[in-house]
Amino acid sequence: MAVLVYLEAEDSKLKKSAAELASFASALANGEKVYALTVNAANATECGAFGVDEVHVLETTEQLLSAAQTAQLIAEASKEVGAKTVVIGSSADAKYFGALVAAQLEAAYIPNVVGLPETQDGTQLFKRSVFTNKGFAFTKATTDTVVVGLAKNAFGSTPNEKPIQVVTKAATLADTTVTSEGAEKASGKATIADADIVVSAGRGLKGPENWGMVEELADVLGAATACSKPVSDMGWRPHGEHVGQTGKPVATNLYIAIGISGAIQHLAGINASKVKVVINNDPEAPFFKAADYGIVGDAFEVVPKLIEKLKDFKAQNA
Ligand SMILES: Cc1cc2nc3c(=O)[nH]c(=O)nc-3n(C[C@H](O)[C@H](O)[C@H](O)COP(=O)(O)OP(=O)(O)OC[C@H]3O[C@@H](n4cnc5c(N)ncnc54)[C@H](O)[C@@H]3O)c2cc1C
Repeated sequence: MAVLVYLEAEDSKLKKSAAELASFASALANGEKVYALTVNAANATECGAFGVDEVHVLETTEQLLSAAQTAQLIAEASKEVGAKTVVIGSSADAKYFGALVAAQLEAAYIPNVVGLPETQDGTQLFKRSVFTNKGFAFTKATTDTVVVGLAKNAFGSTPNEKPIQVVTKAATLADTTVTSEGAEKASGKATIADADIVVSAGRGLKGPENWGMVEELADVLGAATACSKPVSDMGWRPHGEHVGQTGKPVATNLYIAIGISGAIQHLAGINASKVKVVINNDPEAPFFKAADYGIVGDAFEVVPKLIEKLKDFKAQNA
């Protein structure tokens, strides 16, 4: 059965997650046709490099679609191409529209999926992370159609170049109870949701005036900046940067934590990250137990040295 994958776009470009989502959809399709759907993505054909056969590019002048409108576009496309499996990502937006797509298609919604399904006695079981990545559940759909939400960085991307067909058409949007008056990015830099690397800092930095070195380290690495909850509560950093159980989840390739103790509520939001580096002057800080690499030292000495070394390394390898 055909698979439809919805690829989110931002600033008229596919988001980074597109390669991973297309690769997953292609593996899931197992030789059947893979359709992609995207809105206002000028580079939509690039998903052909990851196994998509046909991409539908919907065009609209609306800056931001509501979750209900996005869900309706995905559900319609799924019916049009006859897909019984719909793959979406796990962005904050996807978490809203995923359930709405499933409701419109009378489908099961299985979010946080971490890999291809296993087949047991003829039934497909999707492994998904639960309890803020503390455990796994094996979930089966009891419906004909299933909406699968792939967890970020769970599958990776596999190049699989195909001659891609492109269908471009105007998006017909459903009436909605909410409209956006405008969209403003929190910063012009990498966003926490999309970044491969996140540099995060906590109360150990003493005050907002010391964030220059955090931003500089993030700049050198092409990373997004983040912070612990008290830091945003105190107004040292914007709320959009707060990560953890009650903030944004981070599933990045590299998470660098500077002056963050590693409280359980912080770890709950970042433990899906692949490599965790901790810089803390207290060797007993709980974060070291969760770290892949740790530096016991004063952030005000360690971070500038790290920036210097990284700059030298980049200059030598330019
Ligand atoms: C319901 C609930 C939900 C919560 N949700 C979240 C959440 O989503 N995200 C979150 O982050 N927190 C959350 N918290 C708060 C959490 O429990 C911790 O209080 C918080 O994470 C601590 O932040 P911190 O590590 O920045 O500060 P601190 O606990 O004050 O730790 C500062 C660290 O910096 C180190 N340090 C100090 N000086 C230096 C230096 N010069 N160089 C290097 N290291 C230094 C210290 O050794 C210490 O380990 C939540 C709490 C509750 C009750």
